Amino acid sequence: MAEVSVVGKSAYACAHDVIREHLLDSEGMLNIPVDPFGLASKLGIEVSFGQLSEGTAGLIVREAEADATRVLLNRSDAANRQKFTLAHELGHYFRHQSDGDHVFGYVDERADLASRGTNEEEIWSNKFAAELLMPGFAVRQLYSEGWDLRRLAREFAVSEAAMGYRLQNLGLA
Ligand SMILES: [Zn+2]
Repeated sequence: MAEVSVVGKSAYACAHDVIREHLLDSEGMLNIPVDPFGLASKLGIEVSFGQLSEGTAGLIVREAEADATRVLLNRSDAANRQKFTLAHELGHYFRHQSDGDHVFGYVDERADLASRGTNEEEIWSNKFAAELLMPGFAVRQLYSEGWDLRRLAREFAVSEAAMGYRLQNLGLA
């Protein structure tokens, strides 16, 4: 068995592994909406809400000495946005974790979470977040069963804008 670094692995593949490892029920079914807060809790990651500057969505810090990972989300943001930010921070976490990287930190400005970002690490984490919250296999299946954009957004508990963008990426819209 060889260990493969997550860097170089696609964000979609990594998110898919996380889903398989942590989010399927005993019958192998994925319950939606995906709950990144429950996932963080399962991983021992402490998530809290705080007063951050308006342009800041959230941050993640991993400290080796404390052997702890903490995420702070902007408490002024809407719930959907906080959820996406957390999923994005978990992207940073998994990218570093499987690399054996025990100290890291990211402060995410709004621009880092925008689909048009240019930083490779941020783009990776955004793709991870999209796949975690709106897994391609699940969206494709339900879309093929006739679920429209509004219903998909509602059931996956994301904004219609986010789901619309996801459908485009999956070549469904
Ligand atoms: Zn980031």
